[in-house]
Amino acid sequence: MRLNWMERGNQLKEFESSWSIMEKMKAENFVSSKQLLEVYGHENSNVHKSAIVGKRHLNLWTLEGFDHLNLETALGFSLIQHINHYKRVLTHMFPSNINPELLFRDTVYYCRECLECGYHNLLHQFKLLHKCPIHQIDLEYICNECRNPIPYLLSSHKYENGFLCSCGESLLESNIKKYDSNHHQNLSLKDSFVRSWIEMNEDEASVLRSTPMFKPFIENNPLVIHHLLNITKQKNLVYYSEKNSNQWNKLDTNERHKELFESICQITKSFEAYLFKTVLKDHKHCIKRFTGLFKRKGEPFPEICPYAYSYVFWKESFYNINPFQNNINVAKKNNIVQFELPVYYQEDALKELLIYMNNNDYRETRWYMSHLVWELATYHFDNWLNIANIYAKKKIKPKPNFDFDYDYNSIVIFPRRSNRLEKHSVNALTWRELECPYVLNKKRDIEEISHLPMRLAITNGNEEDK
Ligand SMILES: [Zn+2]
Ligand SMILES: [Zn+2]
Ligand SMILES: [Zn+2]
Repeated sequence: MRLNWMERGNQLKEFESSWSIMEKMKAENFVSSKQLLEVYGHENSNVHKSAIVGKRHLNLWTLEGFDHLNLETALGFSLIQHINHYKRVLTHMFPSNINPELLFRDTVYYCRECLECGYHNLLHQFKLLHKCPIHQIDLEYICNECRNPIPYLLSSHKYENGFLCSCGESLLESNIKKYDSNHHQNLSLKDSFVRSWIEMNEDEASVLRSTPMFKPFIENNPLVIHHLLNITKQKNLVYYSEKNSNQWNKLDTNERHKELFESICQITKSFEAYLFKTVLKDHKHCIKRFTGLFKRKGEPFPEICPYAYSYVFWKESFYNINPFQNNINVAKKNNIVQFELPVYYQEDALKELLIYMNNNDYRETRWYMSHLVWELATYHFDNWLNIANIYAKKKIKPKPNFDFDYDYNSIVIFPRRSNRLEKHSVNALTWRELECPYVLNKKRDIEEISHLPMRLAITNGNEEDK
């Protein structure tokens, strides 16, 4: 077998992925992955002997299964250098708490149009993009035949052809199931945001690199590139943290951890007070009715106000407390351990960020955390309003998906410029309007009594629980 890469007129394209190159080589030489590894793998690897090729040898980022020199001679270029170069082009502007490896998808995302030209772009694997930046159509991520995702690996099936799913179906759409390698399509990037991302200058990149990024904000957000590009250009500025003074203090003593804990307690208290002044203003009775589980004897529980429902379950999941206990204030604590927070929702991501910010000025970290927690409380409450809209009427509490799930248009980012943090907030949320069943009749009648001791099983979180 010869790779015939150059001789066939193949030219290495901008951002071409290693999956693209490998699958094309297989298609053009009618070989399987195993046969490819037998010729271009390490001499001492076990590929020849064993029937199954180990996953490690199939990795398309490290190309561990290949003898790099051997491969380079065959291809006429270093594939590993090519991949690492473009990976860096896409990720060099992230701060160090964002692991660039985790910004790429581990199953194949592909563009139908690109694939027809025998081309797959590394940008399709980049988690921040959801459309092909060349054809501006949605990316596919499963096989059309078996509906399964395709691992982003040198494929482990035995078919002697490229661009196939392990079920044997071609990912190419045309009837002949063959891509057009002599295509004359223009494969330049048309998405101007993606262009700007790639061509970002060092000043802009350094703003992003020193921006403490809250991981859940950037994962699964189709608009995040827009937002991040915007902050490099100073738009939507709200306000600044204190400027770092000469008295620079790390978050390194128990006293400061305690102070941080308490200032976040204070913020969540203010947030609740703000809810009661705004969205919950007319539903205080509804909340009492619901948390007290009031009903008439012998009758089913009355309708639940969606605002009361939202507040109660927001509180439960935000703090991880039982909302049907009389006193639902967050307990005061004396011994605060390092990085401990009074908030349960997104706790791990918040702690990770705190650890990352540990070397910053402590007051700045406190400012940042307070603002971030306020935003998270807001998104999370909105999330519950959304759930309440459907489930309050049914008196059901679904098991909510606490992965970060919010309106992608709205985001807050805290870039650092001139040695202080700024708060940029884009399209702040406005509360959705729900229908309260008690809008005209707020007071309970005297025959309704609390059934709290019964502890209605609405706390268990299964669809079936009522
Ligand atoms: Zn495309
Ligand atoms: Zn399939
Ligand atoms: Zn109400």
